[in-house]
Amino acid sequence: MNDYSFVRRHLIDPAPKWRDRRHPLPAVFLDRDGVINEEVHYLSRPEDMVLIPGVAKAIARINAARVPVVVVTNQSGVARGFLSEDQLQDLHVRMTQLLADEGASVQGIYYSPFHSDGQGDYRKDSICRKPGPGMIFAACEEFAIDRADSVLIGDKIADIRAGNAAGLKTVMVRTGHGAHETTLPEAAEAGFIADDLQAAVDQLCASGAIAL
Ligand SMILES: [Mg+2]
Repeated sequence: MNDYSFVRRHLIDPAPKWRDRRHPLPAVFLDRDGVINEEVHYLSRPEDMVLIPGVAKAIARINAARVPVVVVTNQSGVARGFLSEDQLQDLHVRMTQLLADEGASVQGIYYSPFHSDGQGDYRKDSICRKPGPGMIFAACEEFAIDRADSVLIGDKIADIRAGNAAGLKTVMVRTGHGAHETTLPEAAEAGFIADDLQAAVDQLCASGAIAL
C-alpha cells in the first residue's frame, strides 16, 4: 500500500472503519468550483459559497446508493496567498452545511494548495494538483475504492485528465469553466459531456455506468 498521507484533506469520514479493503467499491469524485458551487475567482469568503441548482439533489441520490462522494479540488489560491488553509476549511464547513440543509453529504474533501508559482512551502509542482492524480490515489487508498468502476465529474480539462490518469470514467459539465472548456477539442477526452451535475448523475444512472 502506498503512503498518500502527504495529501491534504478536510472532513474525512472514518472510511477504513466502514469499508472493506478486500472488496473495493465504486465512488463518485467531484471537482468543487464550477461543479458543486458557483465559480468565483479565488473563492475565499464563506458567504460567497453558493451551490449550483440541483447539486444537493444529485449528491443525495448518490448518498442514497451508499456510494462515497469524494471532492478533489485544486486550491492554488492558498499557494498564491489569497486564502489560508484555515479559511479553506471554513469554506468546506460552509459547503457541507449547505449540502446538509438539503439532505446531502460528501464523505471526503481532498485539496491541493500547491502551485509552481506559489509562495514558500506551497511553491512546487505536485502530483496532488490536477491534472495529477495524487488526490484520487489518496482517496482510493483511504476509502478502498475500485478506480475502474468509479467516475470523476469536472468542469475543466485538467479534471478530466486527472480522472483519466487514475483510470476513472470521466464526465465534463458545462457549468463553471465548462461553459468554455467543453467547447475545446480536448473535451473529447471526457467520457461524455452533461449540462450540469444533476444531468451527469441522471445519465450515469440511466446508462448503468454506475449503479446508483
Ligand atoms: Mg472546477
